[in-house]
Amino acid sequence: MNANCIFCKIVDRAIPGDIVYEDDELLAFNDVSPQAPVHVLIIPKVHIASVNDVPEGDAIVIAKLTTCARALAKARGIDESGYRLIMNCNAEGGQTVFHLHMHLLGGRQLRGLG
Ligand code: 5GP
Ligand code: ZN
Repeated sequence: MNANCIFCKIVDRAIPGDIVYEDDELLAFNDVSPQAPVHVLIIPKVHIASVNDVPEGDAIVIAKLTTCARALAKARGIDESGYRLIMNCNAEGGQTVFHLHMHLLGGRQLRGLG
């Protein structure tokens, strides 16, 4: 738990989150400012600031985020139509919340990156 981290506060129920999935390690909740009909954030419950901070020996957490995102895409019926998974890292990557997260975006035609 990082006392200044908004996603840690959602994990701890200190602030509300529109939670769509939870297990021992992961939490998924709808983005407060959705960029597509489906816009879910999948996070590890443990505080890790960014992709840069995932210890090499713990890289399986990235696979777990992906597997969770894939299951949520299927549950929302966008697995066949398609979706996008994004992990922004640091300032030029567009990261604004420094608790590791994966965006699941879908439900409309997504255009180019950048
Ligand atoms: P980033 O730009 O760091 O990759 O993505 C952070 C995302 O978190 C943004 O899409 C933003 O809308 C979302 N976000 C920021 N604060 C909150 C919050 O308090 N609750 C929820 N559900 N999403 C948030
Ligand atoms: Zn955190």
